[in-house]
Amino acid sequence: MALAYGLFSRLVPESAMTALFNVSFMYSAIDTPLLIAASRKASFSHLGKTISKRSDFMIRNILRNAIDKSNTLRNNLRMLIQKSYKFRFYPTKQQAEQLAKEFGCARFIWNQGLIRREYAYQQWGVSLSSAYDISSQITRLKKLESHAWLKDASSCVLTQKLIDQDKAFNNFFKGRAKFPRFKKKSHAQSIRYQMNQRCVMNNYRSGELLKLPKLGELKVKWSQVPTGIPKMVTVSKSASGKYFVSFMCEVEQGLKPITGKVVGIDIGIKDVVVTSDGFFSGAPKFTYKYQRELKKAQRVLSKKTKGSNRYKKQRIVVAKIHEKIANCRKDFLHKLTTNIVNEYDVIAVEDLNVKGMLQNRKLSKAIADVGIFELNRQLAYKAGWYGKDVTVISRWFPSTKTCSSCGQVHVMKLSDRVMNCDCGLSLDRDLNAAINIKAEGFSARGATYQLEKVAA
Ligand SMILES: [Zn+2]
Repeated sequence: MALAYGLFSRLVPESAMTALFNVSFMYSAIDTPLLIAASRKASFSHLGKTISKRSDFMIRNILRNAIDKSNTLRNNLRMLIQKSYKFRFYPTKQQAEQLAKEFGCARFIWNQGLIRREYAYQQWGVSLSSAYDISSQITRLKKLESHAWLKDASSCVLTQKLIDQDKAFNNFFKGRAKFPRFKKKSHAQSIRYQMNQRCVMNNYRSGELLKLPKLGELKVKWSQVPTGIPKMVTVSKSASGKYFVSFMCEVEQGLKPITGKVVGIDIGIKDVVVTSDGFFSGAPKFTYKYQRELKKAQRVLSKKTKGSNRYKKQRIVVAKIHEKIANCRKDFLHKLTTNIVNEYDVIAVEDLNVKGMLQNRKLSKAIADVGIFELNRQLAYKAGWYGKDVTVISRWFPSTKTCSSCGQVHVMKLSDRVMNCDCGLSLDRDLNAAINIKAEGFSARGATYQLEKVAA
């Protein structure tokens, strides 16, 4: 690299040197020198500079070589990641009965724990920190004749429920979540089993066998064969009555090859994603699509007497529509984020104050429909998996109001869909923002990671 740099500085004019510095180098999380080539087009037009054909060709060549070298390195690298799996399973009649007991007991324990903690919080504003204090109370409860039915559930399930509650309260006290709520029978249910690692081979074989205490072997529909062995298994029942097992496995993951491309992403409502390369994802308005269906089903539900068999049946119909919407949204976001991570090395996104946006009623429904939280989460963890990088731009950066060609800042109303600038630029509002986000993300990177660092 040092050689290339020396050669380069002798041969090319100064304007192209700026270009070289725009091509920044960085270390990824696993300490591989990763070459990040900004798409020169955007950064050049941003700076209002052009370069000759000859030096453009040279830059491209140097980039190509560096990318190839970097990819050869990356080919041998593996990362250990936590991958989650979820499979549907079909319980026998006995298993369904046992599960109903487990769910019921777990719910009871959760709600009892919640009552005690709520009291402690309201009286003294403190957290009953340890799950084990309450755990000893469960043991006492079990000994009472009136609560003997608690013995029907596996004790590990109940203990785990309290540990989960501990986590929920921790999140609440740290301001990351709302106050934990009471569990209802009509909601989705879930319990967790700790897998004893010493005899796990008797209970778990990937793609073949899953045995759980008091339930025995489960008839799992293995849609793929996970590698690795789970430490914890979650059994859940959706509101529409489907059963699932889910767990995490440690998996060896290869890195995705780098492509030398940087992208800026504008997240919005009209298009979920607009990239600086001019890709408009559109917005799949699932809720709107299914809204009529949902409204109709809910109207029917409201006419049934609560607790009747017909009410229960109709409730499942409503739950199924909700599930359909959630699945469609998840699919859409997964495809979108995977494509972005495949295609780009550095992904610049805005730090959106989603909480603030959710308070705006008009926007909140659309934002919830799009799933911006989920989009950001997926981008971050997928980039981590595959050795790519997400750069978060300050929310105060005026991405929408700045002209991406000359840098002039304008006043833009929400209804202005096109950026019209004195310099002659006339560009879609979101695309203009995406180009600005890219340039901003890139300059942030360039400042931190100097060329010499890798060359040395
Ligand atoms: Zn302009």
